[in-house]
Amino acid sequence: MFHCKCSRWVLAWVLLSFGIFFSFLSVAFFQLDTPNISSDTIKQHLSELKQKKYAFLADIDTTTDDSLYKFVHPDISFNEKSYIPENLVKINSEYVFDTKGYSTLRTEANEALQSMAKAFQQEFGIKLTVVSAYRSYAYQKGIKDRGCPDNLCAKAGHSEHQSGLGVDFFRATTQADWLNDPKLSQYFDWLSENAHLYGFHNTYQLGIEIDGYEIEPWHWRYMWAPLAGYLKDHNITFAQWVLWK
Ligand SMILES: [Zn+2]
Repeated sequence: MFHCKCSRWVLAWVLLSFGIFFSFLSVAFFQLDTPNISSDTIKQHLSELKQKKYAFLADIDTTTDDSLYKFVHPDISFNEKSYIPENLVKINSEYVFDTKGYSTLRTEANEALQSMAKAFQQEFGIKLTVVSAYRSYAYQKGIKDRGCPDNLCAKAGHSEHQSGLGVDFFRATTQADWLNDPKLSQYFDWLSENAHLYGFHNTYQLGIEIDGYEIEPWHWRYMWAPLAGYLKDHNITFAQWVLWK
């Protein structure tokens, strides 16, 4: 196409001119579009966004007995030891297999459980099995009177089950039993990935020093999805958040 050296030089000059022109154009565009933001300003902006995202944490009430976020621990009981939740309802059986047949939860927890159990059934083709839900002060006292030790069973007036928000799935045995059972460990993995979306948190993940009891893969409690999601995002348990914040 080019028959002499001068044509190549003309082409090179034209290409160079276009290159310089578009470079100036792009610099002008980005200067107009993007103000000169310092990294400190960006960091501050991100910090504000994070605070806004978790601003709800300031309003979480962990002390009132009927709060959905009531925190109980071996050293922290219900204010009224024999507290009974007002809105207990029988657990629906469409997606849940209730081994006792008469188990109850607070309305909020039951509704969230139904949504979670529906998703569980879609994943595994079976109902989510509940072996224990609300337990009264008297029931818990009976468990303790029969000799269940403090590292495994809460004292009466200290159990998450008394809040009407705690629920045990499949079988309340040992962490080793769950880890060694292929199906249970599969169910636990699914719950760990998904339960927070429905507001459930695995309360006892870390052991006695932190959570007050042995590790319990079967024990989950309802607490509202944003808080459960916050705990999962930060990989901390409810006890860590309440006691260490
Ligand atoms: Zn439990």
